[in-house]
Amino acid sequence: MTEAFARVYDSHWYVLGQEVKRFEEEYAAFNHVEYAVGVANGLDALTLALRVLGIGPGDEVIVPSNTYIATWLAVTQVGATPVAVEPDPITSNLNPKLIEAALTTRTRAIMPVHLYGQACRMREIMAIAHRYGLQVVEDNAQAQGAVFEGQLTGSFGAVNGTSFYPGKNLGALGDAGAITTNDADLAQKLQVLRNYGSQQKYYNSVVGYNSRLDELQGALLRVKLPHLPTWTDLRQQVAAWYGQHLAGIEGLHLPRTAPGATNVYHLYVVHHGRRDALQQHLAAAGISTMIHYPVPPHRQQAYASLNLPAGRFPIAEELAATCLSLPMWPGMQEAHVAAVAAAIRSLPR
Ligand SMILES: *Cc1c(COP(=O)(O)O)cnc(C)c1O
Repeated sequence: MTEAFARVYDSHWYVLGQEVKRFEEEYAAFNHVEYAVGVANGLDALTLALRVLGIGPGDEVIVPSNTYIATWLAVTQVGATPVAVEPDPITSNLNPKLIEAALTTRTRAIMPVHLYGQACRMREIMAIAHRYGLQVVEDNAQAQGAVFEGQLTGSFGAVNGTSFYPGKNLGALGDAGAITTNDADLAQKLQVLRNYGSQQKYYNSVVGYNSRLDELQGALLRVKLPHLPTWTDLRQQVAAWYGQHLAGIEGLHLPRTAPGATNVYHLYVVHHGRRDALQQHLAAAGISTMIHYPVPPHRQQAYASLNLPAGRFPIAEELAATCLSLPMWPGMQEAHVAAVAAAIRSLPR
């Protein structure tokens, strides 16, 4: 890492240079797509993806009712309207069976989110998109390296966004993101959009953004990317240990993976009817846990203008009230997993 840092420092070239170019090539190869375009963060990746597809005011985009709010914000940023669809409560991912009922004449795109690292049921989602002439923009911020029926997430949609926020499976040392696509024309347009709408310096063809991946972050991500498959294996090993040590605890629901999907376990999320009591019990035992996410987007003040009352998306609300993210990182040892499991098992009834 320090070697990469020194290389960028000594180059005196900090924005849009060789490091980002090489990282884009390497990430595209990793993701089995033709092009990756580095941008400033995951939200920008999703926003620019929608923008380059021409989605804007008057358009509707299908989003999951339970996701990190960034998915919805990207839709709002381009002036379109997010239309929520409930998840499958077993996987927490968008339920393809519920999409068609939410379509209108204004629907332009579907944004599946591979939540917690599990690939969505992409065959059904792509079939619906094809049938109704809709675009697909994957939010792959949490699932780099996940697969549905042999195909990597981030390679299904026409244009897809991912994040390298430090806590993500592939994390930079600051904000960073990328867009993945197989379309040369869209990739070229995205390179222009992220750089002030300019192809030739000081000549601007479109009203663009300043959303570039820094050379330093590109160089650091190049060091980390080759390790990602190993880190994913380690995460999956931790999940397997959790599965063994947490088996048979009454009232505790473990993450389940849909047939055909893999999970790269960005998070290991369990559900429990007395979630808050369980979290406090674990905290008292020195085990810190997190809640992803306590308030679904439709109940956020930011979206009060959409007038979506409590009870409108009951599955998302139930998942938000019961979810708990247990400690999970690549290299976590089985003894540690066992200790967390023992603490959960000792929750008084
Ligand atoms: C992290 C995340 C984003 C946004 O990424 P940033 O780099 O933080 O902007 C978008 N969607 C999901 C599902 C995320 O987890």
